[in-house]
Parts: sequence; structure tokens; C-alpha cells
Amino acid sequence: MTALHQYSLAALSRGLAAGDFSSVELAQHFLDRIAAHDKRLNSFITVTAEQALAAAEAADARRAAGDAGPLTGIPLAQKDIFNTRGVRTSCGSRMLDNYIAPYDACVIENFDASGAVMLGKTNMDEFAMGSSNETSWYGPAKNPWDVERVPGGSSGGSAAAVAARLAPGATGTDTGGSIRQPAALCGITGLKPTYGRVSRWGMIAFASSLDQAGPMAPSAEDCALLLQAMAGFDERDSTCMEQPVDDYVGALEQGIEGLRIGLPKEYFAEGLDDAVEARIREALKVYESLGAELVEISLPNSHLSAPAYYVVAPAECSSNLSRFDGVRFGHRCENPKDLEDMYCRSRGEGFGDEVKRRILVGTYALSAGYYDAYYLKAQQIRRLISNDFTEAFAEVDVIMGPTTPTPAFRLGEKADDPISMYLSDIYTIAVNLAGLPGMSVPAGQVDGLPVGLHIVGNYWSEARLLNVAHCLQMETDWHQQIPEAFK
Ligand code: GLN
Repeated sequence: MTALHQYSLAALSRGLAAGDFSSVELAQHFLDRIAAHDKRLNSFITVTAEQALAAAEAADARRAAGDAGPLTGIPLAQKDIFNTRGVRTSCGSRMLDNYIAPYDACVIENFDASGAVMLGKTNMDEFAMGSSNETSWYGPAKNPWDVERVPGGSSGGSAAAVAARLAPGATGTDTGGSIRQPAALCGITGLKPTYGRVSRWGMIAFASSLDQAGPMAPSAEDCALLLQAMAGFDERDSTCMEQPVDDYVGALEQGIEGLRIGLPKEYFAEGLDDAVEARIREALKVYESLGAELVEISLPNSHLSAPAYYVVAPAECSSNLSRFDGVRFGHRCENPKDLEDMYCRSRGEGFGDEVKRRILVGTYALSAGYYDAYYLKAQQIRRLISNDFTEAFAEVDVIMGPTTPTPAFRLGEKADDPISMYLSDIYTIAVNLAGLPGMSVPAGQVDGLPVGLHIVGNYWSEARLLNVAHCLQMETDWHQQIPEAFK
């Protein structure tokens, strides 16, 4: 018999609708799995068992009253970057270890309105800065395919929890790749929407011009259901766009005959692992067999994306993180001598090394005399990068390539080498700089470790991306694979 956690989120939604099981049974099943398995994975920072069961009861009541939607009673894991009222919201940092959020982020409100059930808050790199989950104050989450390896980051806890089926779906946030890279390394599907598609209100800010929240789940169909609830205008986020929300689920089954797929030559070049490339080429063959056409394209400024990102992101983070001063909320040092001592020691104790590194770089890049040379220059490069994509989308419908250059690396392998860590997002970062939507879709394995296919679309093309991903998932079963130890 198939156990509840072996079903996709979409299948669980159908099961709830058919009355095959209740929301309470479903929540209990996943809470039991978390209790049994999360010691090995460390994918949750906080588990909200009581609250989850109460929400599940309310969902069952709502269904009995004939008022259920597709997510009513579906358990979800929320990245610990979203403010959740009455629940610790740590952002993976000692700074916020004692912070109980007084309000819900817009994304959390939207899921509440749909009747989804929060299981808990997932582990993440501190303030979403990292690619391996190793910068978390709570210790790294582990990759369920091999617990000696990283799950990716910064949404590594969400990716690990979903891959091990401790939750049927989760949220992530993506500033430079933090949804897509961990999705790829853990063998699940993840979508970073167009900048402005999902409200950032109540989501703790890292780099405000790049941050976007999105869904992470086994399949594209699951992500479509989640995005449907997350997306939409919110006047409390001034960069959230008043753009109609498409019918993501309804668009899944469209054909892709004649789809033009651009393959940037820069993404199939030096640095890409041969076995990863082979998996990507196999996925591309599936698309060809479905009637798509492969077209070589060029994104000539690709090599500038990591340097530009590592000016823009630290600059914005240095400004955003100035609010953690030990006064209003968060960590405060013991017995400060005076105000300056309080600022220095509270921040010194509250933040980890990677966050400090970014604040230093960002403060420098924004300082008088260097602003033009660094921040302004990086913003100009950003324009060139987005122009590259605009030109490409005049020729092709979507762009594909690998999500990451290699499968999951070992814990500790890159922890002391920031530059090599930064390069694990080499294919994802440009998409954030341009504000475009991108997905990672499971596309095979190398030595038992998952490989992700990266699919990038034009602005507001989430429905098309999900449709294109769904077509691959109708032909392959990589998204259904569950690591042996967590079956
Ligand atoms: N790994 C990148 C960084 O450390 C991206 C992180 C993210 O997308 N939040 O900045």
C-alpha cells in the first residue's frame, strides 16, 4: 500500500477532496515523520505540532461545510524567513533566535486563507546568505540523498524536508538561486517567480531588489497549486505588481509542439560537470521528442553576473540588516557599557561570519567615493544582463541549461572557500539580476545524486514554465524518486 507521504501534493489534495483521509490524519502522518526522521536531517528549526493539528481540524470543518479549496488541509513547511505570528522566526540567525513574530507575512496569510496547515519553520542559511545551509546558526540541514552532503541553500531545510517527504510542499526564497539550487541538489521542483509576482511583505529582507518567494514541491503540478495561492498584488509591498494571476493549474496540460528552447553556449562551457551535462542533454532529447526545437543562443554578459551580484546583494543587505541593532528586537548583549558597546557587541555576537562578510563588503561598496565605482557599475551591468535576456527571448520561448554545475557537494567541502561557494549559483544568479522567473526540475541522477534542469522564461511566464516542466514530468519519473532511507 502506498503511504500518505509517497503521494504528490496534488494527489493528496485529490485524496482530501474524495474523503480518503482527513486533514488531521494527514497532518499527524507528517508530524510523525518529522519526529522520526528529522534528527538525521535537521531540516526544521521549529515544529508547530499543536498549531498544525488545530489548523487541520479547522480545515476538516471547513471541508465539511463545503468551503474547501485545493490547499485546504494540505500540510506545508515554511522557510524560517517568513514572519509567522506567535511563532519564533529566526531567519537562521542567533540574532533572531528569541524573536517571536507579532504578525504574519503576506505569503503566510495567503496560505492561511487557503486553509493550508503549517507544520513548522525550515532551516536555512543565516539571513538567506549561503548555498549549502552551513551558515545556519542551528547547524546545517543535510541532503536526504546522502546525509554527508549539503542540501544546497539557502532554502536547504525546505528542500531536504520535501525530498525526504517530511512535508508534501514548502516555501523558499530566492535572491540568487536559493530556491532553484537546493531544489536541484535535493531532486525536487522549485520555482522562483518574476520579481513582483509574490508579495515580499513580512519576508525578512536580504537584498530587496532581488528577493522573491516561491514554491518547492515534488512536481510542477504541486508547484502550480502552491503558486496559485502565493501570487497576487499586495499594496503593502511597493514592488509587488498589479498583474493578473494566471491559471497555473489549468495551463499545465498545454502541448509544447513548436516550443523554441534556447541553449546559452555560456552555460554549457568550462566548469560544467560532464555527467551533469549528459543528464541535461537527455532531458533536452525528451523535449525534442515532444516537438520542441533546440536553438543555440548566447548570453554574452553571463560572466559578469556573479561579480555584479556580489556587489548588489551585499550592498542591499548591509542596509537591510542595519535594523538589527539590539534595541528594537533580536539579540542584545549582556551588560553593555554604553550605546556603542551595545551596538558592537549585540551585532558582533548576533551575526555569523558570512553575514558579517557581506555587511563589510556592502558597506564599503556603498561608501562615498566607492559608490560609483562599485554599486553604480554593478547596476549598469545588471542592465546589460537583462538586455541579453530580452534579445534571447526575441528568438526563443524558454531558456534551458543545468541549474548547478555539479551535484551536491560534501558538508565542509566549500565552507572555508567563499568564492567556490559563490560559484555554485553561477547559472541562477543572472535570472535574479534581470528579475525573470526560473525553475529547477529533476532531470536524472549522477552516482545517486539528483541533477536539476534549469528553465528560464520571460517576465510573467510562470504558467508556461510550469507547463513546460509538467510535460517533462509526464515523460520521466525523476520527480517521484524518494531517497531509500526516507521511503
Ligand atoms: N547563494 C547566494 C548567496 O549566498 C544566493 C542566496 C539566495 O538566493 N538567498 O547570496
